Amino acid sequence: MKELCIKNGTILTMDEAGTVIHDGMLWIEGSRITYCGPAGSETKPRSHWRRDLDARGGLIMPGLINGHTHAPMTLMRGLADDLPLDVWLSQHIFPAEKNLTSEAVYWGAMLACLEMIRSGTTSFCDMYLFAGQVAQAAHDAGLRAVVGEVLYDFDSPSYGKIENGLALTRELIDKLAPHPRLSAAVMPHALYTCSRSLMESAGAISAETGAALDTHLAENTGETVEVQKSWGARPLAVLEELGLVNERLWINHGVDLNQAEIERLAAAGARVTHCPESNMKLANGVAPLPEMLAAGVKVCLGTDGCASNNDQDLFGEMGSCAKLAKASRLDPTVAPAEAVVSLCTRRGAAAFGRPDDLGVLKPGALADVIVVDTNQPHLTPMYNPMSHLVYAARGGDVLHTVCHGKVLMAEGKVEALDQEEVMAKAKEQARALTGREVL
Ligand SMILES: [Zn+2]
Repeated sequence: MKELCIKNGTILTMDEAGTVIHDGMLWIEGSRITYCGPAGSETKPRSHWRRDLDARGGLIMPGLINGHTHAPMTLMRGLADDLPLDVWLSQHIFPAEKNLTSEAVYWGAMLACLEMIRSGTTSFCDMYLFAGQVAQAAHDAGLRAVVGEVLYDFDSPSYGKIENGLALTRELIDKLAPHPRLSAAVMPHALYTCSRSLMESAGAISAETGAALDTHLAENTGETVEVQKSWGARPLAVLEELGLVNERLWINHGVDLNQAEIERLAAAGARVTHCPESNMKLANGVAPLPEMLAAGVKVCLGTDGCASNNDQDLFGEMGSCAKLAKASRLDPTVAPAEAVVSLCTRRGAAAFGRPDDLGVLKPGALADVIVVDTNQPHLTPMYNPMSHLVYAARGGDVLHTVCHGKVLMAEGKVEALDQEEVMAKAKEQARALTGREVL
């Protein structure tokens, strides 16, 4: 079996106790970590198959987890900004999406995968059209993903009528079940784009298969007003009435949640993806992160798609998360650095449905590991690694990226895919999608 050794760095295990191992060494066999401890106490003889990655005195930590994105929307990065949500969606995003093809989705997702590998993300949860192509891209790039076909009540360029979308969702769940890195979830877009019968059918598939039910919910107060008008209750109460508030529920945004709703989500074991940059850019408000963490809700962090972020860099997202919470509360003690990093690692793994073997470094855990190069001016000196990860580091500081035991990037060079080809294909697809020239 192939072995990999990551050495000469400080290991941030991200376990509950906050264990840090100075001059640490990590051994990986196949897809799992077999040793995580100080260098020197590992006595295993050097194997013929061994490959070493030098952390160069940097930080060895779990690969980051992105709880919510629309990966192929990299093709719409910067297409339209600084607009109200309804104008942005109806006049720019939806018209471009009408022209979507499976090839465009594949190359858009590959571009996102490339960006994720370069910025240290090894797991992502994705909602989009032609979700099978997103799965193919994640497979080809070597990343871990939960994917889902976005379901709504108007004809989809991917599946046409909603009946086909529901059938496709079932198919995808079955098809990906045996895959070691991929799985599928049921993904109705939102209560304002889905009918009661669609939500009921989606809930039935989730209950039968055990797959997560992932949806946009409570993204802003305007949505709450609209949902109250058309459904007669607040968004979470609608899901409650539909019987969907349980441990399979995974909501994105959760900006307009009251205290009773937060406690209900915690009691149900439901998951929430917090997307601070998207919420800021689309002026949707600020999610109640401190209250959700205090109540014990399974919270993770998400970038959302590139049309509303405009990147897939979780380092930037962590900084935004910490600062937005502080600025909105006028309280610098909320969202401390370690808690924010945990949203993309240990806590992120719980939301991802893998609380025991993902998001932490320990023997037996999945070998999703990144190394952050701290030997740089903007990361010098380093008193506290957690502080640097949230307030000073950026995605471009990632030196090595490993997912499921496979080296995807070493010494800043992506090995998993052809970077030039992916960028050229993505530009070609962006031109075809929007009819606009791109540089
Ligand atoms: Zn979204």
